[in-house]
Amino acid sequence: MSTWDHGRIANNMGYRILEKGGSALDAVEQGVMEVESDPEVRTVGIGGFPDREGVVTLDACIMKGDGSCGSVAFLQDIKNPIAVARKVMEQTPHIMLVGNGALQFALDHGFRKEKLLTEASRKDYEEWLEKSEYKPVINIENHDTISTLALDMNGSIAGACTTSGAAWKMHGRVGDSPIIGAGLFLDGEVGGACATGLGEEVIRTAGSAMVVEMMRQGKTPQEACEAIVHRIIRKGKDMEDIQVGFMAMDMDGRTGAYSIQKGFTYAVKSQVREELEEARYQIG
Ligand code: ASP
Repeated sequence: MSTWDHGRIANNMGYRILEKGGSALDAVEQGVMEVESDPEVRTVGIGGFPDREGVVTLDACIMKGDGSCGSVAFLQDIKNPIAVARKVMEQTPHIMLVGNGALQFALDHGFRKEKLLTEASRKDYEEWLEKSEYKPVINIENHDTISTLALDMNGSIAGACTTSGAAWKMHGRVGDSPIIGAGLFLDGEVGGACATGLGEEVIRTAGSAMVVEMMRQGKTPQEACEAIVHRIIRKGKDMEDIQVGFMAMDMDGRTGAYSIQKGFTYAVKSQVREELEEARYQIG
């Protein structure tokens, strides 16, 4: 399952891998790479909205049910941060690399530098510059992280999360998406969860880790997503303009999703289901 309408792109690619008996890890990585590489998707990878200095900076993380994980943040000039995150997981003793260090690591591992600011994003940025209003509010238009959760034929689970973050964010701002436990969390005994929307609210509540813990304690994926969104609303201020959504899956493949505002869609694909669904929501 994958977040937003572009989740269908990730699911199609990921499912092809799963069908042939491939791993959940390959499925989520390859799935989200399709979206990262698509310049038409303006919130992930190449073509993503830049920060308020006009620089595209990318965040991503990847995790397996056994607790292995890798992450990159504030990465520039590399269009597939998820693949770099996987290399961090597999080829270093660390979990997270950021900024120039992450870039250097990527270049050392054969990634190529590319210009990520497309003409379309540059134009939007110039329009934004006219007023330069700094409103780091994630609403319905300026976000859309892609996160994918997959279960393979061996019963292993993996997840990937990748984003260009909030449009026009402060230079150096990192959201929830590359933070294990916030934007993404999995435990092979329970299942996985991921988030999209205003990352600050998700970090504050250790959102995805909480969803998985609530599932461990007996909630269904749907109930757990609802519980964390209710907690965010209860603890937060001015939630009317803010969007946060969660999506979760347990080890039996049961799914759930919930958001603050109307409009959070997610795509599901399995042997028996292929759907783009709208998550239930609190305010609408
Ligand atoms: N969660 C992301 C962030 O705060 C934004 C998004 O979901 O698009 O960076």
